[in-house]
Amino acid sequence: MTKMSRSQLTRRGFVTGLAAAGVVGGSGMGVGFAQATSSMTGEAAIRELMAGNERFAAGKITSFAEDLEILKAKTVAKQEPFAAVLSCADSRVPVEIIFDESIGKIFVGRVAGNIVTPEIMGSMEYGVAVLGVKAILVLGHTNCGAVSAAVAGKEVPGQISVLYQHLMPGVRDTHGDVAAAVKANVAFQTRLLRESSTVIAKAVKEQGVKVVGGVYDLGTGRVTLV
Ligand SMILES: [Zn+2]
Repeated sequence: MTKMSRSQLTRRGFVTGLAAAGVVGGSGMGVGFAQATSSMTGEAAIRELMAGNERFAAGKITSFAEDLEILKAKTVAKQEPFAAVLSCADSRVPVEIIFDESIGKIFVGRVAGNIVTPEIMGSMEYGVAVLGVKAILVLGHTNCGAVSAAVAGKEVPGQISVLYQHLMPGVRDTHGDVAAAVKANVAFQTRLLRESSTVIAKAVKEQGVKVVGGVYDLGTGRVTLV
């Protein structure tokens, strides 16, 4: 079996699994990557996110009016997001708002510390393979509690410490510097998403999908790519 046919089989298994789970409807999507409705490139998708963040940081949000129109029309039968964002669960990082994007535009995964767990990996693969997003942005933020806790390495109640195993590889060499650890964690999770998922790696190679990292500054409202 060639490498190619093995990966095709893997993808077929993935999509079939989604169909079996009722995630993919009988829309004739077939095997393989979804035909994205947007002709946007991966680079354009990142540019659109950054332009939206500029509008947000400048206090010139346009998406709320659009959201109201979409809600009034009640016609959102399907979603065609152009980008996916993996963000921290932090309440101060409302993803659609900080990128000034309306309903249906961004496929968002959120978990404390914006870490790539198996569930997050599967969700992002769904965004790429089924929804046809052109870019994935892994978004950390300043003063992240999850990253700070991992850096401090203190004992925590319940299952909070399960986050540590995902955070430690990225932050262990930052010597207690939380700002550096936030950046390092974003870089680590971005690489993990780009390289350890066969679905995403293939989309990057063959379809120009972009997987990049960024840090949201709680103080300025600005996102900086890392
Ligand atoms: Zn956080």
